[in-house]
Amino acid sequence: MPDISIRNQRALTINNIFCIGRNYVAHAEELGNEIETSPVVFLKPTSAVIFEGDRIRLPAMSSDVHYEAELVVAIGREGKNIPRSDALGYVAGYGLGLDLTMRDVQSELKSKGLPWTIAKGFDTSAPLSEFLPSREITDPQDMTFTLHVNGELRQTGKTSRMIFTVAELVSYLSSLFTLHPGDLVFTGTPRGVGRLASGDVLALELETALHAEFHVA
Ligand code: MG
Repeated sequence: MPDISIRNQRALTINNIFCIGRNYVAHAEELGNEIETSPVVFLKPTSAVIFEGDRIRLPAMSSDVHYEAELVVAIGREGKNIPRSDALGYVAGYGLGLDLTMRDVQSELKSKGLPWTIAKGFDTSAPLSEFLPSREITDPQDMTFTLHVNGELRQTGKTSRMIFTVAELVSYLSSLFTLHPGDLVFTGTPRGVGRLASGDVLALELETALHAEFHVA
């Protein structure tokens, strides 16, 4: 199982990878999705994780693999039924990730009412940056992250625009699943998703605090 590194702190072995869909209004609209009244949750396998230096591999079964830049939360303590007011105390760190998605495969699965796992969980579909310790983040709902593809700005995420806040997501997930150290939460992508091609270079940035670059094989 891969470890994430939390700057100036311990490494955490990745446990469950929870992902939230449709957590920014403008992205839900660009895919023609409803705005949900509770978070949309799905999972990725740990085998999907890669780090800087590893290449993104586009699966042959898709001709429309999309990038989705997201704030990723790392859980540091075990918890169940965590109240929203305590939820941020369970967060060990914040990083950035890409929720890579075979959009054509996902659309077909969605139309048949089938789970998205295949479309979301392929090898290399979860590139991750390093993580900042949570004590360095004053307010997770006041951060801006960006994704550049081949030097061009494609996505800007303002966490103030999330439909469900980090605290709400952690509390909600813990009402369904016992959370453990090393669990990750991909918190959803803002508008601007698009197709990847071989040779693309993706650069994730969280203000000046984090930078991670990934190359598509
Ligand atoms: Mg996503």
